[in-house]
Amino acid sequence: MTNQILKEKWISFQTYHIRCIYKKTQYIYLRFIRKTKNFEMTVPLSCKNTDINNFLLNKQAWLSKVLEQSTKYKEIDQQKWSADKKERAKQYLQHYLEENLTSWTQKIGIEPTHITLRSMTSRWGSCTPQTRRIRLNLALADLSDDLITYVLVHELIHLRINGHGKDFYAMMSTLLPDWETKQKQMNTILLV
Ligand SMILES: [Zn+2]
Repeated sequence: MTNQILKEKWISFQTYHIRCIYKKTQYIYLRFIRKTKNFEMTVPLSCKNTDINNFLLNKQAWLSKVLEQSTKYKEIDQQKWSADKKERAKQYLQHYLEENLTSWTQKIGIEPTHITLRSMTSRWGSCTPQTRRIRLNLALADLSDDLITYVLVHELIHLRINGHGKDFYAMMSTLLPDWETKQKQMNTILLV
């Protein structure tokens, strides 16, 4: 197996702590793990410390930029939510749907059979077009209403259009002309 970890160590480079993973690979890869806010490097077993150091010297600007951007993320960790907070989140979203759902289903011309509100760790929403069921993440309750709308509209459109092709974005642009701004905002929020 080529992706097997052969050796592992933490190295210090300037103010950074970097996890170094030695694998049977030809090149050095450097990435940032958003969840843990750590840098991680995959390096060939033959790699010397000086090689690693030289590689990182070339990446200095990137390291500081990525770390700076990462502090702009908002994190939502529902595992830390109390039962009470979850209940309030559910009520908030139910209220939001009562106020907003009908006008969007009328515009899109399709109604979901059911909307489930539940905690999810990796997605804001999902849907099953065959049964017209939509699932929305309880974590949405922590966002502004316009972002909740962005996710809701995205899933509602999927009841009519599969995937993210031209038709999907055309409809998105008609319904929410500023959806790209919303998408960018969503990308700064991290589900933990
Ligand atoms: Zn989608």
